[in-house]
Amino acid sequence: MQPLNTQPEIAGDEVAIIEDDIGANGAPSARPDRARWKILVVDDDEEVHAVTRFVLGKAELLGRPLDLIEAKSSRDAQTELLHHSDIAVILLDVVMEEHDSGLKFARWVREAGLEDVRIILRTGQPGYAPELDVIRDYDINDYRAKSELTQTRLITSMTAALRSYQQIETIERSRRGLEMIISSCSQLFQKRELASFSHGVLLQIASLCGIDGDGMICAATENAAPADSSVISGVGALAPFIGSHLRDLPDEANLKTATLEAIRRNMFSTDGPLLLSVDTPPDRRFVASLDHSLPLDAMDSALLRVFAANIAVGFENVGLIERLDRLAYWDETADLPNRHRLLKDIGDHDADDRYVALVRVLTYSDTLSAFGQAMATGLLREIAGCLRELPGQPEVYRYAEDVLGLVVKPGSAAEARLADLESCQFQVVGQVMRARFAIGCAPLAYQGDAALICEQAFAALSLAGVNGRGDLVHFDAQMVKDARNRIELIAALRSALEDGQVDIAFQPLVDIASGACKGFEALARWNRNGAPVSPAEFIPLAEQVGLSLKIFELGVRRSAHLLARLNAKGCAAYASVNLAACDLEREDLLPFMMNLLGRTQLPPSSLQIEITEQSLIRDFTVSERNLRGLKNLGCRIAIDDFGTGYSSLSYIGRLPVDVLKIDRQFVTDIATNDSSQAIVSLTIALAQRLKLDVLAEGIETEQQRSVLAGMGLRHAQGYLFAKPMTVAQAEAWQGSPGGAGR
Ligand code: C2E
Ligand code: CA
Ligand code: CA
Repeated sequence: MQPLNTQPEIAGDEVAIIEDDIGANGAPSARPDRARWKILVVDDDEEVHAVTRFVLGKAELLGRPLDLIEAKSSRDAQTELLHHSDIAVILLDVVMEEHDSGLKFARWVREAGLEDVRIILRTGQPGYAPELDVIRDYDINDYRAKSELTQTRLITSMTAALRSYQQIETIERSRRGLEMIISSCSQLFQKRELASFSHGVLLQIASLCGIDGDGMICAATENAAPADSSVISGVGALAPFIGSHLRDLPDEANLKTATLEAIRRNMFSTDGPLLLSVDTPPDRRFVASLDHSLPLDAMDSALLRVFAANIAVGFENVGLIERLDRLAYWDETADLPNRHRLLKDIGDHDADDRYVALVRVLTYSDTLSAFGQAMATGLLREIAGCLRELPGQPEVYRYAEDVLGLVVKPGSAAEARLADLESCQFQVVGQVMRARFAIGCAPLAYQGDAALICEQAFAALSLAGVNGRGDLVHFDAQMVKDARNRIELIAALRSALEDGQVDIAFQPLVDIASGACKGFEALARWNRNGAPVSPAEFIPLAEQVGLSLKIFELGVRRSAHLLARLNAKGCAAYASVNLAACDLEREDLLPFMMNLLGRTQLPPSSLQIEITEQSLIRDFTVSERNLRGLKNLGCRIAIDDFGTGYSSLSYIGRLPVDVLKIDRQFVTDIATNDSSQAIVSLTIALAQRLKLDVLAEGIETEQQRSVLAGMGLRHAQGYLFAKPMTVAQAEAWQGSPGGAGR
């Protein structure tokens, strides 16, 4: 192949364009026979016909023989003219039935819109000449007395008329051709896909030259062998080969050899099959080849060159669009469509009973660290292939580094395969592997919100890991139903937060001996259409979809409000607000806190932040930095649900912690259970050594209170003292004997 940047000599770089409906049904338009000249001889005198035949019958003018069509009257002549669309010259007798029959016929010809045909008038009566304006108005080429028309004169006159006809026809053809190029390119350029663009190009070429045979367009790349070029569109006998490589076409297939040659040599040729090649940067060459039986002339070539120059831009544009699409929607490493593609495809689906399944390959990271990238992505590809080979061939996407995604129909083969994926074997770089999976899914019930659907499937996926159900979740109708409920609940929570339906209740934190109020814990409350939703239900959901920080913010704002009112009455108290584990890991937590404290005017020393023991065993680096930051701001830190975490107690000493809140489960049976007692007394001992406060949650009975107080515990929270309440209730309670002193 020649370097691709050498263009075949194509004239001009005007941008012209073609119509899709090349003939209403895509059939090329009829094309006149350009091998012979058709001459209509009109005369009522048989002898004149005989003479004309003798003179012109065997003549060859301007390189073509003549076909004489004879008519004996203007009526016959009309019929012939209507029958033959491509008559070049009419040799017309003036005087026939009437003295001016010829002139009348000439007028009829022009009025019928036949403007190209040339007319030579002959008369047997010298002296009877038509008016000059007749000659002009009816566009008469020549006027001769029959006696004047010697053999040479007739031939000269006919040659002049034919030349004139040829020029008119040439101008007309090129006008029509250019018009066609302009209108068709504007339609072609709206196509965004290579396949439909090139199909349009193929039809346009056929239409432009009026040909109707087999044809195809192949795409070649500089670095690949010509035989590796792919057939991107085809018509006639070549239509079935769309998508194949040239080498796959049978050797006897029409145009195969010619096309290979054209790819190698960047050819433009109208001798033999029509071959036209177009190069686009950086390295692609498109070759159109069409078979035809009609001879193509210089005009065809010229028009084709103009067309080729124009579609080069189109090929380039379509190529760019395809590359952009690929970049946006394709994961090159795994050679799979990516998350954006999944979102787009889901967005295009109608809502129905299908669902999105996200499949986390748990074995991925081990494979990556043990065998490297190629093996790990190879494994992903194999798994994708194993799902894609099923009937219905579901598309498989790479949703995240180690997560594949697909849309599944209930009861389909893909659903069965998903449930059984751990028993499948995968052949990766010559090794047989198995893999372990976690699967989360969400229904396509909510049309249009693809991101939300995927978010839900992803949330389900994280549950699949932590729910203690094992790594493989056999999803079922219930799970789809649950997911649907979750979607509804999340949407409702979102609007509840906006509409102020989520509020904060305050539960007093008291001195265990006196019952005096020291502070309040802020607890979120959601009243959904009159029915309270348990925080145990909506808080985890809020964490999954990033709404928990909003709830924390609400807690701090309402606390600031309560404390300000208490302060105005001369009562000091602190607020204790729960911060979700995922929010403790946020890189932007500290700026957020500073901003929030500034806005609420809440003194940091009045704010205690409760984090669960669980949150400390997640991403420790960021969490620890944030804890220190919060501490430096002046906030106090409490470890919530203490005793339920898996972590060793040793970290407590290293962290900037102020309070341990002993979980309710040890309080409930403190009077009867030795191990609960042991844990509580150990915790108290540890706290004393580390100079931390300890608080017991969930004290409901006087017995629990007195046992704990006897063990040296000083602070408490529980229904025995007060339940969570509204700001107004909290204010009133604080001022009451139960709150202020006991
Ligand atoms: P938690 O932080 O351990 O909150 C204490 C829970 O125990 C509260 O339940 C409270 O109403 C309840 N409780 C207090 N005293 C007693 C008692 O004597 N007996 C019994 N049976 N229960 C008592 P609630 O409000 O249902 O909250 C449950 C959990 O939801 C909280 O546990 C906390 O983990 C979470 N949560 C609540 N509000 C928020 C919030 O604003 N932000 C965050 N991140 N989590 C919150
Ligand atoms: Ca708490
Ligand atoms: Ca707690």
